[in-house]
Order: sequence, then structure tokens, then C-alpha cells
Amino acid sequence: MLEVKDVCVSYGNRKILNKVNLRAHEGEIVGIVGPNGSGKTTFLKSLAKYLIPDAGSIYINNVNITEMDNREIAKNVAVVSQIVSIDFDFTARDIVLMGRTPYIKGSEKPEDIMIAEDAMRKTNTYEFKDRMVTELSGGELQRVIIARALAQTPKILLLDEPTSHLDIAHQVEILNLVREAADSGLTVIAVIHDLNLAAHYCDSICMLKSGEIVCTGQPETVFTEENIRNTFNIPVEVNTLKSTNSLYIMPLLKRVSKAG
Ligand code: ADP
Repeated sequence: MLEVKDVCVSYGNRKILNKVNLRAHEGEIVGIVGPNGSGKTTFLKSLAKYLIPDAGSIYINNVNITEMDNREIAKNVAVVSQIVSIDFDFTARDIVLMGRTPYIKGSEKPEDIMIAEDAMRKTNTYEFKDRMVTELSGGELQRVIIARALAQTPKILLLDEPTSHLDIAHQVEILNLVREAADSGLTVIAVIHDLNLAAHYCDSICMLKSGEIVCTGQPETVFTEENIRNTFNIPVEVNTLKSTNSLYIMPLLKRVSKAG
């Protein structure tokens, strides 16, 4: 279990996160939502120990992450950043095997290869394992990066806008994959910009504004018209889709007249 208690983070003397609290259990996807600049990425960085909080504590299964060295952190926490291009000539398999780095002393063992290949099968990347990553599409590359994270066999997966730049079908493909990983016991903390996808895939939502939590809880509790308007500064209408019982959030746009 991940537990975050009263975490405050600053860059220099500029306070970015103020007393952020969060609990996430095995098998849960927690969505982090909030306007640009509200501190979502900073929060993920503190969970991965890339940044050290000024105050507060972060526990993984009751162990304070300050007591874990980098190798121990990498065995527990995997990070998938916003889509990046990889400009080196690695095959997809090379990239996924890198996920085993925290476990490898010397060269990889058959077990490492087995785990990496299992991660590739789960992410439907095995069929192009020998292709160069420079030749993959955005969606394929993102699946390889997720396979690398799964090959780390972490307890917690941190995702920073994992679907930005992907078309809707590939967004759904990635989030289905993440849901499957969570259903098999992983704890997932994901920054997701699309509130509709966040509502559909996340078990709970943590809404941030100016580095503070506005509301946490189930999507139905957090995604009210009032919370969204107050946090994102835009009026919305929230409905429930009949077919899936998911929330459906639509900005109330002014009608603009079309020329001609
Ligand atoms: P979000 O992910 O919600 O868009 P970020 O966590 O990236 O927000 O940024 C929160 C605030 O911290 C922003 O005002 C941003 O400009 C600032 N910030 C982010 N990274 C740094 C940094 N390395 N140094 C100084 N300020 C930063």
C-alpha cells in the first residue's frame, strides 16, 4: 500500500505542494487530475523519490521511502513519463530488458528474460520485440515503455499522462492495459488529463489545484460540476452514460457562429 502524509514540496523557495495526503491500495488506479501547473508531475516525482519533500512522509507497505536506496525504490516503483522519443538504436526487447536493471548483477539471467518477455506478451509488444524503437509508432513505443515498467515487477506504477499524443483508440488500448495490470495487483497512480477517461478507468480521483487537494474519492464524488468549475475554471455538465454507467463530462461551450 502507498501512503502519503502531509507532503510539501518546493522548488527553491517556491512552495509547489502543500500538505498532500493520499492512500492507494493494491489493485487500485488513482487518477491525479488538475489544471496545468497544479503540481501533478511534481507529486509523481516525489513518489519516485526524484524530489525530496520539505515536510511529510511517503510510505510503501509501511516503509518510509527515505529508508530505501535507489535500487530498492526501483524494485518498488516504476515510472512511465510523458511520451518520449528514444533516439538510440535499441530494439524493443533491449528497452524492456532495461526494466530488470535493479535486479541484475553482472549479466541478465534466464529469469530476467522470462519476466521481460512476459511483460511484452501482456502489452502486445512481443510480436515486434526485434524492431528498433526508432521505427515504432507512438502507441507501440508507449506500450514498450509500459512493458519496461512492468518488467521492473514494481508494486507501484506511476504514469504521467500516459495517453497524451495518442488517438482515442490507442488511449483506450493503453488504459485497458493499465487496468489489467492493476487488476492483477499493481497500485497505479496516473496523471490523466482527460476527465472522461479518468472517470471510467480510475477507482479514485485526487483533484489538485495550486498544489493542494481539492477533493479525493470515487469519481462520482470528485467529478461534480461544482468541483470541476472551481478547479478548472470552466463550466461543465456532468451526466451518466446509460450504456456503461460511466460519468460523462462536457464543457459548456458558448456557441460560436460559423462564417458562411
Ligand atoms: P503539472 O504537472 O500539474 O502541470 P508541475 O508539477 O509540472 O505541474 O509544475 C508545478 C509548478 O512547478 C509549475 O508552476 C512549474 O512551473 C513549477 N516547476 C516544475 N518543475 C520545476 C523545476 N524543475 N524548477 C522550478 N519550478 C518548477
